[in-house]
Amino acid sequence: MNKAQRKHYEKLAEIGCSLCRHLGYGETPAHIHHIRRLGMKRENAPVIPLCPNHHTGNDGVHGLGKKAFAERYGVTEEDLLNQTEALL
Ligand SMILES: [Zn+2]
Ligand SMILES: [Zn+2]
Repeated sequence: MNKAQRKHYEKLAEIGCSLCRHLGYGETPAHIHHIRRLGMKRENAPVIPLCPNHHTGNDGVHGLGKKAFAERYGVTEEDLLNQTEALL
């Protein structure tokens, strides 16, 4: 990871969980989640901040899977990415 990337990740983590924000829970300390796209290397994948629960927890994107996640919260990873980028 280069310096610019690390700075970007730090900024995202400061913004807090993008789903908590979307749901009106306010700022929750977040991990970085990589949005996997076909044929794209992980290091080039776009990233969004997600709190541990909404990331790897049972209610998270890894726990539920992309489809169930979108159905449960009415928002996709891509929507959260757009919302996050609008804040930067
Ligand atoms: Zn969250
Ligand atoms: Zn992840």
